[in-house]
Amino acid sequence: MDEFRDAGLIRQAAAEIRKLARPDKHYRLMEVCGGHTHAIYRFALEDILPDNIDLIHGPGCPVCVLPMGRVDDGLSLAADPKVILTAFGDMMRVPGRNGSPLEHKARGADIRMVYSPLDALKLAQKYPDREVVFFAIGFETTAPSTALTLRQARALGVKNFSVFCNHVTIIPAIRAILDSPDMRIEGFIGPGHVSTVIGCRPYEFICRDYGKPLVTSGFEPLDVLQSIVMILRQLADGEARVENQYARVVPWEGNLAALKAMAEVFELRPYFEWRGLGFISQSALRLRDSYADWDAERRFAVPGIRVTDPKAAQCGEVLKGVLKPHECKLFGRECTPELPVGALMVSSEGACAAHYNYALRKTAAATVQA
Ligand code: SF4
Repeated sequence: MDEFRDAGLIRQAAAEIRKLARPDKHYRLMEVCGGHTHAIYRFALEDILPDNIDLIHGPGCPVCVLPMGRVDDGLSLAADPKVILTAFGDMMRVPGRNGSPLEHKARGADIRMVYSPLDALKLAQKYPDREVVFFAIGFETTAPSTALTLRQARALGVKNFSVFCNHVTIIPAIRAILDSPDMRIEGFIGPGHVSTVIGCRPYEFICRDYGKPLVTSGFEPLDVLQSIVMILRQLADGEARVENQYARVVPWEGNLAALKAMAEVFELRPYFEWRGLGFISQSALRLRDSYADWDAERRFAVPGIRVTDPKAAQCGEVLKGVLKPHECKLFGRECTPELPVGALMVSSEGACAAHYNYALRKTAAATVQA
């Protein structure tokens, strides 16, 4: 990966950006994916951009967009002593109304961290007298692994395994952002991981119907800067196209095997609530009837809890790019990575956690040096 962190090439890309960015214009570019937000802060890329380019951190962090009510719904399953609730590591610290999964675990609930849904399936095979529920979250990036695990569970006849499905899809969220009246975005740095599965074609409506360019991008510093160059070139030429900067990983047509597995197992929910964005129709996945036996929402009484975020928490505004993370009233005081109030402070891909971990440290280091 050395060439994607090469200082000379990075300086060249930064010079190209300065040349392309018209001084009389203000550019607001949204990086959709939380992985890009993390990379932008980690490599301090905003520092080498001209002042008139603003990077807006988008909704592509699955932990961040999950409403607190769904966290509580999942935790309610763990109240049954027969249940082993399993989840990815970044879910373990997401606050629910009465604490995170980690805190519920400390109080005695059987909640275990897994690295993949297949680990949860193995647990179900190991403990046939328990019910193992996998708390599934993520975009199209992780949905195929859940789908393949469900196929495996059915093939093996494992009946004490089920999935609490919270998978969401990126396209309706981008559409909701484009339709939002307080949103002014000139172009998109397209998600890299999701695009390895869905490809580039689903983004074409952004260019066709909204006249905005989108460049699917990798995660190294040069990837992100090259993507910005590609967006600025399109804007300078009055064009709006989908381009693939991350062609070394993203096939234009996506991963057909993964898409087929997802289509076999999942269908679209009529609507789903996104934290900060509200209800978005056809934006999330649920299990098809043919997988009802492995659907935790049909096998258990899931209460359907609705929770409003604390009033002072401004996660919604940060998610939509209306506010920068440090402009939230709770940032760095009541809300820190150690004691997060909002989900954007939990995952390393959340804009608030990334800002706290990198931008604040940098400021502190500069103060010490001075
Ligand atoms: S600082 Fe905390 S409460 Fe405020 S927007 Fe970020 S995550 Fe939400």
